[in-house]
Amino acid sequence: MTHAPVADRFWAKVIRKAPDECWPWTGSSSRGRGSISVNGRSRTAPSVALDLAGRPSPIQGLFACHTCDNPNCVNPDHLWWGTNQDNIRDAAAKGRLPLQKATHCKQGHAFTPENTRLNGFGRRQCRECQRAHRRKNKRKVKAMRIAALSASNAAQVSK
Ligand SMILES: [Zn+2]
Ligand SMILES: [Zn+2]
Repeated sequence: MTHAPVADRFWAKVIRKAPDECWPWTGSSSRGRGSISVNGRSRTAPSVALDLAGRPSPIQGLFACHTCDNPNCVNPDHLWWGTNQDNIRDAAAKGRLPLQKATHCKQGHAFTPENTRLNGFGRRQCRECQRAHRRKNKRKVKAMRIAALSASNAAQVSK
């Protein structure tokens, strides 16, 4: 069975719908992504869909990204090659990353585009909280300086 052509094995596990619809992958998946073994290597289903559609990756190290919001979709028309960074940015922009389901940070500030920073891992950070954190640190440093100063003053007075 595993010796059947990749295209046959692949399309047997896809529910092909109208060209503009999402085509769900029904095969196996690993870590939440559809996967299929090709020449003994496990590959993601969307990247194989692009290969089979005659659009193989132009360079190495690219990932199949979705224009639709459906990670399970393997409709080649909904797929494009991007870098991992593209993928993260794209997912982040669509609020698709697992950590991004929340619309507000822990302190209740809304994750608006203006108030949201992405770190290198695609994690959202609340600018408002970061500002508050910096202010707090500044106050702490100032308080420590004052304490140190008054301690040394007190020491001098007691001499
Ligand atoms: Zn789709
Ligand atoms: Zn916040």
